[in-house]
Amino acid sequence: MKLNKRFALAVISIITTIIAGYAIPAHVDSASKELKIEWFDVGAGDSMFIKLPNKKTVLIDAGTTSKGSIVVGKLKDNKIDTIDYCISTHPDMDHCGGLAEVFTQMNVKNFYYPDDTEYDTQIAGKVMDLAKEERGCNIISPGQGTVIKGGDGAKLEFVQNDEDYTSDNEDSLALLIEYGDLRVLTCGDNEKGSEEMIKQCNVDVLQLPHHGSKYAISYDFIKRFDPEYVVVSTDGKKYGHPDDEVFNICKKYDKSIQVYRTDRIGDIKLIATKKSWKFRKKGVIVGEAAGHGKSGGSGSGNSNSGSNGSAGTSARTTNNSGSKKAKVVYITKTGKKYHSKKTCRGLNNAKAIYKVKIKDVGNRDKCKICW
Ligand SMILES: [Zn+2]
Ligand SMILES: [Zn+2]
Repeated sequence: MKLNKRFALAVISIITTIIAGYAIPAHVDSASKELKIEWFDVGAGDSMFIKLPNKKTVLIDAGTTSKGSIVVGKLKDNKIDTIDYCISTHPDMDHCGGLAEVFTQMNVKNFYYPDDTEYDTQIAGKVMDLAKEERGCNIISPGQGTVIKGGDGAKLEFVQNDEDYTSDNEDSLALLIEYGDLRVLTCGDNEKGSEEMIKQCNVDVLQLPHHGSKYAISYDFIKRFDPEYVVVSTDGKKYGHPDDEVFNICKKYDKSIQVYRTDRIGDIKLIATKKSWKFRKKGVIVGEAAGHGKSGGSGSGNSNSGSNGSAGTSARTTNNSGSKKAKVVYITKTGKKYHSKKTCRGLNNAKAIYKVKIKDVGNRDKCKICW
């Protein structure tokens, strides 16, 4: 009896602790706004869904024609039947094909496409016809600097160069997604030639253009956007995408870059509040990202398909969370971060760097690169 009672008390105490432990963050979470990004696994192709803090929905591409129903199914599973902003990066089938099903099954309010390309293949033509027939749908060709506001300071900015290039890939629309501290760049199938003209920005997450093709990624391109995480939307086979050399380039630039591949992980989810963000799953460090030869599919022996471990911001900050950090840090006048090293590459573009006491950093956050 006594033992049972003690056991029961222990159980109650554990349960109480668990409830107390979860109650507070759960409450805070529900009160705060979120931006969600999901790269759908559409094999050889691209499809990315974004839910903005103001609850508006964005779909960028929808894979090939045969993947359209999969994309629509995933959206409907999440009770989404309206796309407020549907963005077609360019008319190639592996991006545009599935959009026909999206127009057929869902309400689309705004359709963005690059008007320096021709939507004249059978599939792209059909998508454009459906966009024109869609009741109340605005058709927009965005220029560099066109912005979609997402509420709570979130925004999507078109950052591609407006020049009319010779290939549709180079004319792909590119989007910078910003919310709080998070910056994500996705740029369709931009290639060498056009991609270095995409508006420069220091990003956290870079979706490698053109499914990680060697014709799309150079050292200078990676340096230009300085990502901590890269995403590759690919089936891991077709056209040799992604090319292993691409991961070597990333590694040469920064060996701590983490890689997320749809062919290894499946759908890739990222959730951001204004204060922090994280991927749902862990990625792999860039040195482990290459190699198509492994048994393929999900897992393939790497830790990439592991449990819902924390990644993103939390993974970065846990390493050096000790309080014995330097009392003096480095900042710029308007920068939002404070740095432990004057040589941090986050300060590469700084005109003037100031040395201050850590208590004087104001509401700046710790730089994720140097701490
Ligand atoms: Zn493509
Ligand atoms: Zn393409």
